Parts: sequence; structure tokens; C-alpha cells
Amino acid sequence: MLLKSWLSIAPNSDFSIYNLPYGIFSTATLSKRIGIALGDYVVDLHKIAELGFLKEFSFDKKKIFLNDFLNDFMALGKEITVPFREKIQQFFLDIPENNDFKNQKDAFLFPQKDVTLHFPVKIGDYTDFYSSREHATNVGTMFRDPNNALLPNWLHLPVAYHGRASSIVLSGTDIYRPKGQTKAPDAENPSFGATKLLDFELEMAFIIGKNNELGENITVENAENHIFGMVVFNDWSARDVQTWEYQPLGPFLAKNFASAISPWVVTLEALNPFRKSSPSPEKPLLPYLQSEGEKTFDINLEVFIKPENSEENLVCISNFKDLYWNMSQQLAHHTVNGCNMQVGDMCASGTISGKAENSFGSMLELTWRGTKPLKMSNGEERKFIHDNDTVIMRAYAEKNAGQNDNIQHKIRVGFGEVLNKIFPTK
Ligand code: MN
Repeated sequence: MLLKSWLSIAPNSDFSIYNLPYGIFSTATLSKRIGIALGDYVVDLHKIAELGFLKEFSFDKKKIFLNDFLNDFMALGKEITVPFREKIQQFFLDIPENNDFKNQKDAFLFPQKDVTLHFPVKIGDYTDFYSSREHATNVGTMFRDPNNALLPNWLHLPVAYHGRASSIVLSGTDIYRPKGQTKAPDAENPSFGATKLLDFELEMAFIIGKNNELGENITVENAENHIFGMVVFNDWSARDVQTWEYQPLGPFLAKNFASAISPWVVTLEALNPFRKSSPSPEKPLLPYLQSEGEKTFDINLEVFIKPENSEENLVCISNFKDLYWNMSQQLAHHTVNGCNMQVGDMCASGTISGKAENSFGSMLELTWRGTKPLKMSNGEERKFIHDNDTVIMRAYAEKNAGQNDNIQHKIRVGFGEVLNKIFPTK
């Protein structure tokens, strides 16, 4: 259905009337609070409540909205957050009933350029999956056996490891090239120093909005009731550190120096128009992992490298829908042993690579371990990420929504971006 807002929103805005993603913002005079991104503005939910427009919602609006994090809001549950989002959407529709609301807009709308965005959720635990078949195959081919790239478990369960939450940072945070222990294949002993193989991983992450008790599992069918929304996720990686340290227990210092997220949490409700079926499983799945219907989303993903004093270079075009395992299967597997997920927990997808060579979601794969450098528009080459480079990831879903007044309308739900600049080792 076509929706038209009384607020002027550019047709290519990530933050259309269909989106309404949540974040935490402050201004020079206002403390941290929950906001919704709409066009070039942030909507202050506390101000809307103060004006008396949200009386039908009985939760403690001051406590929920004037908050450093989204956790308490998410924990209200979808019984409340879904109708709440619909109510906010209704207020911004271009209909006469909204004139009173519209006339008070200066009280609750702030230009995005004038606000400070903050980390949106208090993360308890963080898990990183490994759910792209193409990524796992590429890595297995490079590091192990090209004829047996996938390990025997990969087609039977969504592989993951437990990561570290404290070093997950907001877009815009400076990243310093990490130091670590590495060993060249022909060297007898390891050496210590700044990583030479700094890499990004193009991922998305989902955020838990509902607890399950220790000992209880979440089924594939019920998983989306526990998922509040999604962000873009850059899982920064040091490949030379990783190669030397990762066996037998998996990544450690190669990953925990930084990962970064986009600031706006896009709800699953906003992504509903973009539902897709996951790829058919190649091997029969155990019943607890069998997934019916459209449980993944068609989300376009892009990665750019911007060298110092130069322009952005598009180096990767991928899509979330290509992942072999969907979020519902990931969450069902994560909890099948009774592991308790908590509101705010973050689960990243793993690097999202497609089949095409320009859809690989890391420099490791794009340059095939440095053997095929990428050309930048300023004439330089990149095998991995250099100091003073900025890496930007963007994500958006988009589809045609039919014609009205002879204008082709589209539904666009974007995530904004996650951007980090790399600085020399401290
Ligand atoms: Mn990763």
C-alpha cells in the first residue's frame, strides 16, 4: 500500500515512512533518549508522549523513552512495540486528522545533522555465525582443501562462535590497527607487531528483543518473536593473527579488537515487504532446523573503500538473502540446548558473500588472499586495508510500490551506514 507523509522525505531516503528505525540520540540541550529516524529528521518519542499523543499506551513512557539504550523498550514485547510503531506511522501520514500533531512538529522533530547518535543497545552477549556457503567455501578453499572446502558439519548446522561484546562500537568510531602474534609459513618462530592483513567482514546482525529461560529453546517457527531488529555489522579482522591463532578453538584476538554497527535498528516489521525464501537445503535437516516459508529478506549490501583524500570505491555488492542459514534457524540452533538469550544480545550473520567475484564480503576473498589486488580510482591498489583508509558499508531494501499520480513509487527501507577510519597502531 502506498503511504504518503506530511513530512517532506526524499524518495531515495533510507528512512522512509515505511521504515521507522529506532536509535538513541542526544542534542546540545537534551539528554540521551529514544529516537526514530524519518527522512532527514529524528523523532523524539518522549516529546510526543509529553504532548499527550500516546495516551493509549500504558507503559511508563518517561522511563522507557528517556533511556540510554533500547533494551527496556524492546523488552515490552511485540504485543506492544508492533502497534506502537503502527501508531507512529499513522501520525506522520498526510491526513486531516493529523493536523494537530503536524502543527506541533517543532517540538519533536530534530534535524539529524544537529543530533549526536549513541550506541543503541546494551549488549549482553555476542555471537558470530558463519552462514554464507560461498564465504565458508572460499575460506575453506584458501586455507584448507579446495576439494573439501566445507567441513562435514557445515550443511547440517549453522556454525558459530561466541565473540566479545565490549569492543563492538558505533559507526564513526576510529579504529587503530591492532598488534598481535603472527607466524609466516616458512618461519620457525612467531613474531609480534601490527597486523599486515587488516580486513573487513560484511555482515548483518540481529538483536534479541525477548528472553528465553535457561533450559528452554526457541523454535524456528517462534524465532521472529524474539528478534527485535537488525543492523549492518562490520566484523573487523586481522587475517595474519587469525591464521596463526585460530586452531583449535576458533578466532580470538584476530576479531575482538573491534566490530562496528550502524546506529539505527531496523525492525523486522519494516522488512516484511522484502521477505524471501532461503536457499533449499542440500542435505536433509534435522526437524528442529527445518524452516518453512519466507524467513529471510532481500537486502542489498554494498562496501566502499575511501583512501585518504580520495573518493569512495565500490568494492562489493552482495545480498542478505543469499545466506544458506536464516536468522530463525540460527536462533533455533543457538538455543536448542537450552542456552538462554537475553534482550540486547547480538547475533551476527558471518561474512555475506555471493557467487559473483564482486559479491565477496571481505578483502581476503575479493583479492583472493592478496593475489588479485583491487584497483582504486586514484591509481592505488589494495590487497588489504591501509592506514587512513575509511571503510563504509551500506544496506537497503527496495521494491516498486505501484503508480500514483503518474509517478512510480517505491518502498525503500534503508539501514544507513557503518563507517570506520583506520588509524596507525597506537
Ligand atoms: Mn565474522
